[in-house]
Amino acid sequence: MQKRHIAIAPILLALGLIAFKYFTAEKVVNPETGKEARVALSKEEESVLGLQSYKEVLSKSKVVEEGAEVDQVRRVARRLAAATGEGGKGFKWEVSVVDSKEVNAFCLPGGKIVVYTGILPVTKTDAGLAAVMGHEMAHATAHHGAQRLFQDDIYQTAMNGAQQSIADLDPEKQRAVMAALGAGAKFGVILPFSRDHETEADEMGILYMARAGYDPRESVKFWERMEKMSGGQPPEFSSTHPSHGTRIARLKKFMPKAMEAYEKSDKQASNDSN
Ligand SMILES: [Zn+2]
Repeated sequence: MQKRHIAIAPILLALGLIAFKYFTAEKVVNPETGKEARVALSKEEESVLGLQSYKEVLSKSKVVEEGAEVDQVRRVARRLAAATGEGGKGFKWEVSVVDSKEVNAFCLPGGKIVVYTGILPVTKTDAGLAAVMGHEMAHATAHHGAQRLFQDDIYQTAMNGAQQSIADLDPEKQRAVMAALGAGAKFGVILPFSRDHETEADEMGILYMARAGYDPRESVKFWERMEKMSGGQPPEFSSTHPSHGTRIARLKKFMPKAMEAYEKSDKQASNDSN
């Protein structure tokens, strides 16, 4: 009878490859939090990819060229961009408004922002809009996309190693092992990373809005409005999104630091929309 076993060599090979990738990876330091992270792309590569996706999204969308909504979005983006400081260095900020019912906004690597008109009834004021855009811009300045790509690469390498090491087991057992490993890595490693990114974007986002002169407490009001809207969560939040209550509690925790920045700002921004 043929002996079925788990091969060790592919696992060792995968571990070696992971160690190599880990230690040779490019690193970024977040100037706001001081945290260091490994990334899969250089800042230049990020900008190129960001611009590509931006053009692609816009080519498939109904872009609003002018009007009060565009004026508001541009005004808020300009103020926020100036408040990103060191993190936004080298960014070529640009913003477009897309006519869509989607309650969403995002910022691509390198600083290309897209705001859907569907979110404007929820953001209501310049400060509300600054809460969303600040959060999205923070994802970009913190290089969360490139960090995510690095994590996915490590995850894939590990899963390939595991797959090869159990290639001799019968298919049913293989499936069970891979499912267990996959779920473990997803819930144990990848999702917590995403949640960390959400926390970081919340912290940096209200700091950006405060520095830009928007009252950071408006972010809490925005999330309360989101909470009242049923089924209105932006897609970005579907998998990694903490409950609104968790987010609001977290924003309140970061508030003293943001209020300090707000006190030092010119506070004119919040009056823009009046
Ligand atoms: Zn986010």
